[in-house]
Amino acid sequence: MLSLRRFDIQYIKGIGPTRARLLGNELGIHNAYDLLHHFPTSYIDRSKIYSIRSLQSIGDAEFVTVQVRGRFVSFNVLGEGAKMRLIGLFTDGTATMDVVWFKGIREIRKHLRAGEEYVVFGKPARFNGTLQMAHPEIDAPTILSNTVSVRAVYPLTERLRQRNIDSRVIHGAIITLLSSLKKPLSETLPESVVRSNSLMDLDQAIRTVHIPSDAQSLKAARHRLKFEELFCIQTDMLMRSRRRKAATDGYPMPHIGRWFNDFYHQCLPFELTGAQKRVIKEIHADIAKGRQMNRLVQGDVGSGKTLVALMAMLLAIDNGYQTCLMAPTEILAGQHFATISTLASKIGLNIRLLTGSTRARERRIIDSELRDGSLHILVGTHAVLEDRVTFARLGFVVIDEQHRFGVAQRARLWKKSERPPHVLVMTATPIPRTLAMTVYGDLDISVIDELPPGRIPVTTVLRYDNQRDRVRSAVMSQLSAGHQVYFVYPLVEENEKLDLRSVTEGFEAVSETYAPYKVAFVHGRMKPAEKDAQMELFASGQAHILVATTVIEVGVNVPSATTMVIENAERFGLSQLHQLRGRVGRGADKSFCVLMTKHAISADTRRRLEIMTSTSDGFVIAEADMQMRGPGDIEGTAQSGLPFDLRIADLARDGIIIGQARSAAEMLIDTDPELSSPANRNFALALRDILGRATDWSRIS
Ligand code: ADP
Ligand code: MG
Repeated sequence: MLSLRRFDIQYIKGIGPTRARLLGNELGIHNAYDLLHHFPTSYIDRSKIYSIRSLQSIGDAEFVTVQVRGRFVSFNVLGEGAKMRLIGLFTDGTATMDVVWFKGIREIRKHLRAGEEYVVFGKPARFNGTLQMAHPEIDAPTILSNTVSVRAVYPLTERLRQRNIDSRVIHGAIITLLSSLKKPLSETLPESVVRSNSLMDLDQAIRTVHIPSDAQSLKAARHRLKFEELFCIQTDMLMRSRRRKAATDGYPMPHIGRWFNDFYHQCLPFELTGAQKRVIKEIHADIAKGRQMNRLVQGDVGSGKTLVALMAMLLAIDNGYQTCLMAPTEILAGQHFATISTLASKIGLNIRLLTGSTRARERRIIDSELRDGSLHILVGTHAVLEDRVTFARLGFVVIDEQHRFGVAQRARLWKKSERPPHVLVMTATPIPRTLAMTVYGDLDISVIDELPPGRIPVTTVLRYDNQRDRVRSAVMSQLSAGHQVYFVYPLVEENEKLDLRSVTEGFEAVSETYAPYKVAFVHGRMKPAEKDAQMELFASGQAHILVATTVIEVGVNVPSATTMVIENAERFGLSQLHQLRGRVGRGADKSFCVLMTKHAISADTRRRLEIMTSTSDGFVIAEADMQMRGPGDIEGTAQSGLPFDLRIADLARDGIIIGQARSAAEMLIDTDPELSSPANRNFALALRDILGRATDWSRIS
């Protein structure tokens, strides 16, 4: 592998200095290693003629361009102007499909005739349930080639195309390179990993991915290469996180004592769920050892994270430490404070609230109790981070809703005690576990994957603009039963002016439609005090309706609110809709969520929204959201956290392989923590090479 990196591609026959420079600038291909790792994005399969019927069920077909042989039955032009398209009904006797053109319609009509035999050649897709192929290549059946059966298609840039560097050129160079190699590419992965995961060896995988002979070996080759990338990432993350743990002493908290036990026996109003118990055990095992804990607790809305956090803090208090819980807003901090105070009122814990609006007198009490160690739990907002807030023995910090607290802010917390306190981050934005493993690879993760019993699921429906009367009478009946209602409007920065107008108009319309019920109104551009006052109107029940933008997304708890109407629901991400929906269904009464949308939404959008009406499982929703939008879009996560760019693996789609790679990496690091055994030498070098190179890249860009 190392010698491949030293092999400049300009010496490959057919490349030369000019093309080499272009490939370097446009695609980052500088040497033989880069070239062999420039993977095809798709393949053209000319090895066989597919029957249209077989395409109906073919799963991987979207990935491969296939050919079908048959005749056009008819041609129809539909739509007008920019939406004009030509549809040819095509059959091979087993079934039919639509062949569609959006451009060049007149040309195509001139050349194609119904009734004549053609081979059409493209990517099959399904559109509104109909099998379809858009802009295929079309040949007369005689051109069927038997020379190259499956042809790789490579990512290119416009500039390369202009300079006549196309897929064939790249493919040609790769074939030349591969056939000139004197010996097989040496295996990079440890032998044990290849064997126990039944992976194709590197040489065969690289050859197959560029020159596949059949679909099955191609799949195995791609699997091997994806596995390798993900395995490198997981190994790197595990090694880093273990080194960090080994280097960072934390406060040992082995005891379970009076506070925890008293709370458990005297204050718990209900039985903990199995998942809550498990996560508390995981936390305890972690903090008992004297290593600093950095743990992410994921749990769906309503899964009881606050209680878990409280019990973890009690463990810390039992070991003689102070604790602190931070929330992103004053309202949330206030709610946590109220919840925890109520829950723990019987056992005499000292709990206080610190926010930007805490009075000077209370602040002085807090300051002195923090310093003399008598304050057990400080609940607060960012105000907690101020330098003047000093603890006698801060040992444990809980951060609610992590994506609003940056790493830098976490670092400020560390400075508040001699050793870094244990950190528990709670998030209700479930991200699929496999993605979490990768983007939060160096945090330990606990999942509360069970809701307390007896919850009545929120009924979610999709309604169109022309069904507003129906929505109105449903809302009215909730209001007259004494329940409260949310109306939520989108507000995004790029669209801020328009959105503000629509939420303001919405507020006016709602006030009029539901008079004399009282309506409160909040949006993200209000002053905090004004916002809090409006929220308070709603929370206290003085207002029956709250018209709001997504500021209410996080955490607000008003149990008598039973209905949420979300306007322009199609503009929200699924995970965000799920968060919003979590604001209702918090009391004993049956709750509803109405997703309002205009009638003309695409089939895709409808499918997306229908996921919301069909499940209330946040993890299922997050998974679906990621499948549809790609992981880069999921809030609070970014692929940029990865040590190098992925060339073939896909975080959204390769969840299973991520899991396998993780286990394999754990096994490897358990037996050979520094990769120092001779059997792992090649891998250690390859890994260092990949990571080292990645660093160089970041310096360049
Ligand atoms: P989250 O923060 O995870 O959305 P909360 O901690 O706010 O959820 O809990 C939601 C509600 O469920 C709270 O009213 C809480 O008291 C209640 N709760 C928590 N754990 C249990 C349990 N094991 N059994 C019944 N109710 C519970
Ligand atoms: Mg919560």
